[in-house]
Amino acid sequence: MQTLTSVFEMQTLAEDLRSKGQIIGLVPTMGALHEGHLSLIRLAAERADTVVVSIFVNPTQFGPNEDFARYPRELGSDLDKCLSAGAAVVFAPSADELYPKGYSTYVQEEYISKPLEGVSRPTHFRGVTTIVAKLFNIVRPDFAVFGQKDAQQVAVIKKMVNDLHFTVDIVTAPTLRDPDGLALSSRNRHLTNTQRQEALVLHRALQKAKSMVESGECRSDRLIAEATHLLGEHRRVRIIYTSVVDRCTMEPIRDVIPGKAIMAIAAWVDEVRLIDNIIL
Ligand code: AMP
Repeated sequence: MQTLTSVFEMQTLAEDLRSKGQIIGLVPTMGALHEGHLSLIRLAAERADTVVVSIFVNPTQFGPNEDFARYPRELGSDLDKCLSAGAAVVFAPSADELYPKGYSTYVQEEYISKPLEGVSRPTHFRGVTTIVAKLFNIVRPDFAVFGQKDAQQVAVIKKMVNDLHFTVDIVTAPTLRDPDGLALSSRNRHLTNTQRQEALVLHRALQKAKSMVESGECRSDRLIAEATHLLGEHRRVRIIYTSVVDRCTMEPIRDVIPGKAIMAIAAWVDEVRLIDNIIL
């Protein structure tokens, strides 16, 4: 496995692989890798000749009062995990390499990025689309893998790819969970045991909504009311949003069409901000 830090080296290597006819799969990450990330790398390895994993804590997707400074950074153990999951290349540039002094160009999707996460994190997706567009230009992958855990991110990136005529295929990977249902996240490490127990209610509320749909309930207001009720029973959990939206446009929907809608939840568990969603 090769580890590269310069844009020029990454572009040169990718160009060389492409000229040999290799299929390149890209898995963008911010590091602090867990089994959820590794499932994306393994999925990419099934389809690609060469899997490139990017590891970059992207400053432009963090708001001024968010956890950029305390976001975990552990490149050494990440590299071992990438190798064992089947990556051939890790691209781990510095912030100065990608955003040198005087950097001034951003990519912004202006519709799907506005609701849900966009309300409390108004500059987040601008940072995400900017870094992902840059990575697509540096690596020029045939496909890139993103997790359904970040459902709005997937929708925004698919829209960007379509609107800006990128030729990369976007592959969505299912959310990996601990056996008790908690979606794996780099932020889970900040939870105490008690907080973690309370955090389980996010998945329970989502599952309840899904089972209501399976028993014939399609009114989103009833699904939201039930989920809100369950979340409200937990003292440490403060809801940021509970929404039922079209999984492509992120627009709220009144009546669920199974397979086309998701319920998305964001909540604070004390000081830790968690998101999760389920396809209804
Ligand atoms: P991050 O490092 O948090 O930016 O995540 C990198 C990629 O891993 C994104 O596409 C995430 O959606 C995905 N991801 C994060 N957590 C999970 C999970 N529990 N299951 C599947 N994919 C995940």
